[in-house]
Amino acid sequence: MHDVRCGPGRPSPPRAGVRDADAPPRPAQSRSRAQDSGGTPRSPSTPTPTLRRPSTRPRRSSTASPRPPTRTRTPAWWSRPSRGADLPDDLAAFARDAVRDHHTLGDAEALVDRHGFRSRGWKAGRGKIGALAAVGASAAFDDWTYEYITYRERERWGTEREVDAESLFAAADWAYPAAWDTVDRGEGEPVCVPHTPGPILYGIRGDDPDVVREVADRVDAEPVSDAQLFVTNQGTDAHLRDARLGDVADGRGYRVEGVVATEPETRRGGHVFVELDAPADEGDATLDCAAFEPTKRFRDRVRALRPGDRLTVCGEVSRGTLKLEKFCVHSLTATERVTPTCPECGNRMESAGADQGYRCRDCGTTAPGKVTRPVRRDLAPGWYEVPPCARRHVAKPLVRGGFDAPTHPEG
Ligand SMILES: [Zn+2]
Repeated sequence: MHDVRCGPGRPSPPRAGVRDADAPPRPAQSRSRAQDSGGTPRSPSTPTPTLRRPSTRPRRSSTASPRPPTRTRTPAWWSRPSRGADLPDDLAAFARDAVRDHHTLGDAEALVDRHGFRSRGWKAGRGKIGALAAVGASAAFDDWTYEYITYRERERWGTEREVDAESLFAAADWAYPAAWDTVDRGEGEPVCVPHTPGPILYGIRGDDPDVVREVADRVDAEPVSDAQLFVTNQGTDAHLRDARLGDVADGRGYRVEGVVATEPETRRGGHVFVELDAPADEGDATLDCAAFEPTKRFRDRVRALRPGDRLTVCGEVSRGTLKLEKFCVHSLTATERVTPTCPECGNRMESAGADQGYRCRDCGTTAPGKVTRPVRRDLAPGWYEVPPCARRHVAKPLVRGGFDAPTHPEG
């Protein structure tokens, strides 16, 4: 099926970048796409955007362009000396806590009063919490990313979005890894296009403001009414704090070390659970970890864990269970203890009774106890992560780098 609105003779749609061509990007703390507000993985049950055949409208050749730069470029106006240094410490702390903890409206209003800020609220006024956090963020954090958001024409709001999948995947490939989480190659689906009825057409996230803008320019889609570049904390892991395994609490995100205590278990619905023990020097504590069904192929990594593996796990704790966003394998159990086999006939020996060791019923050979043998592992040391389709907006993709071990990025 060919969409006539994209066919030959269609007037050039207003491309992204009308309003922001010369203006600096607006800072936006915790700016999230509509479909993943609240930090939940994008729902797999919602309809996918309309994917059309490639249009005949001429597009730039992606092969003619050089690879985009991959280094992070922070504009001068966003540097801490110009924006963060003058901010009071308690405002920076408020911003940090807003990302990692919880605030009441009273917390925000007390801070406003203390510093004599002018403020205004609508309805319950809870927007003051996020607004204050956005102001303090430049002093609280130093890792920043970008999202270039395009907006739909008003009359199209609520209708299916028309985004050409082929051009989107080509643009995503061209920009990766300077722009990330544009598509999920493993699942073969776009992830930058929301499924909700809101005004956003798509949002391109990445480390380089020019690259995310260029990606948007390369995507063939319905007309864009407006576009904005946002500075964000998306993809930074700003929500995670280091903690001891026994100290975690519900509703917060952590980076904790532990030792796999149980064989991973797949439960009804395809959710995979594994229990961790605290490291030996932290005393007795256990923590259930889960990789839910929407995390797709990530669950195979969790299923590959074995008791004794030493890990760092990252995610938010809810009802006592850490919802895995990524984990690092520091060391793998290399051996397992098994019932010995008979050296004469090769059959598995049987228990000779409590504390009696093992014996072969046929040959009469005996062994004093279980034996150690190497175990084949389908997992390498390093960091593993959920795929882009299940990524929370604030979770840092491994491809961004800066991790303390080898990484196995999902793109
Ligand atoms: Zn035997």
